Amino acid sequence: MSSEKKDIRALSKEELRDFFESIGDKPFRGNQVYEWLWNKGAHVFDDMTNISIETRNHLKNNFEINHIEVDSIQKSNDGTIKNGVKLHDGLIVESVLIPTKKRTTACVSSQVGCSLDCKFCATARLKRMRNLNPDEIFDQVMAIDKESKLYYKRPLSNIVFMGMGEPLMNYKNVLAAIDKITSEEGLGMSSKRITLSTSGVPKMIKKLADDGVKFNLAVSLHSAIQETREQIMPFAKSFTLSDLQESLEYWYAITKRKITYEYIVWNDINDKQEDVDALVQFCKYVPCKVNLIEYNPIDDGMFQYADNEAIENYIYYLEKNRIPVTVRRSRGKDIDAACGQLANKQ
Ligand code: SAH
Repeated sequence: MSSEKKDIRALSKEELRDFFESIGDKPFRGNQVYEWLWNKGAHVFDDMTNISIETRNHLKNNFEINHIEVDSIQKSNDGTIKNGVKLHDGLIVESVLIPTKKRTTACVSSQVGCSLDCKFCATARLKRMRNLNPDEIFDQVMAIDKESKLYYKRPLSNIVFMGMGEPLMNYKNVLAAIDKITSEEGLGMSSKRITLSTSGVPKMIKKLADDGVKFNLAVSLHSAIQETREQIMPFAKSFTLSDLQESLEYWYAITKRKITYEYIVWNDINDKQEDVDALVQFCKYVPCKVNLIEYNPIDDGMFQYADNEAIENYIYYLEKNRIPVTVRRSRGKDIDAACGQLANKQ
């Protein structure tokens, strides 16, 4: 039965080399197969045309190539494309292609559902079913790269881990995927073009720094007041702001790279002067910039995007304190592809 076969993409390059050695072939075949899998994105062994038919058959008898299927594609009026992605076990995640004048960004998922419980996020309402494997994350990127070339005549330029799930709760697989995306024999994309967004898992932020990662880090802050943050992001009771602060100081000391804080301003939740002051204070701990993101409603009366005045007030005080701030407009709202709206509605 095919399910008894091992997914070949669970093997490292070394393990592939060892496999070929164990069957009396050249270890170098392992590199060739690795390239087929992680650079050319082969989904069937017969694509591997520089491998003999006999060897391909041998691979087929021992392994399978689990891969995703893009099950549904929705296109927004603003050019954003949302892929409904079917995994080998039938579960679905979503990923989004976001085109701007100069760039194409892929927004990819790291879990089916999410481990965390942010009150304002549609994904949080789904149960966390499982972590995605490295190949399932990689395939989302490949699929979007293909669509970018097809629809926008250019390759994918950036990747953000801002789809479904908390990437730092699937640490090992997310890093393994990024390794495949950035390595020379993989897609060879620059780490500088990759941003991992986390709700803020202090221990794992420190681990990122220790592991010497080269990509960018964004933290979904939303409030710099402990009590408020706990209300909207209940997991923050265990992952406190002071632990988060400490982990970010640690990150900066080692990486010397700026953090981006993602922040939504809501009526009556964090639109007061004390909220602004707390954010300005928090921004002084490590070099950073603030991305004020537009709220995308998720059929819930509890959260309302703040008035322009409140947003302007944030901008005024951040700029006054020389903290770079940008306002991010939503993309793909009409197809539920915007931040926090990914919930497999289809
Ligand atoms: N778990 C990670 C990545 C996924 S969410 C994280 O929390 O960072 C990606 C971004 O979308 C986060 O900044 C998150 O706070 C934001 N987001 C969640 N729900 C949203 C909503 N309804 N409207 C706008 N942004 C939302």
